[in-house]
Amino acid sequence: MNEDVPILGRTTFEQAKLCPICGQPGEDRRSLKAPGLSPGTTVHTIYCVTKLCEWFNTPWMVQVNPDGSVPPPQDHSRSKKYYAGFEGHDELAANIDLALKLQAEQEIKPGSEIRNPQG
Ligand SMILES: [Zn+2]
Repeated sequence: MNEDVPILGRTTFEQAKLCPICGQPGEDRRSLKAPGLSPGTTVHTIYCVTKLCEWFNTPWMVQVNPDGSVPPPQDHSRSKKYYAGFEGHDELAANIDLALKLQAEQEIKPGSEIRNPQG
């Protein structure tokens, strides 16, 4: 058995919860269903809770598949400067925007609108 071989290309939810900046576990404050992805897939919103971190109170998204696996962050997989810059801010904002839209879609369920009693 090669137990000392690092598991590459495999991300767990616990790993994904670690803040990309300070490396401390973030706080899972919200999970949303992810329409358009496999049924059962959820997107968790993780916040850094390390007060001294640049990302304190900053959320990032973690997708969790129905089987509990977490897809590796593809957008950064080819970038070795992940920790050196903040190029991801626009992307992060876009992700948050998407999540909020998804949440809005979940809250506004088709067919549940209030009918006009006069109609
Ligand atoms: Zn942090």
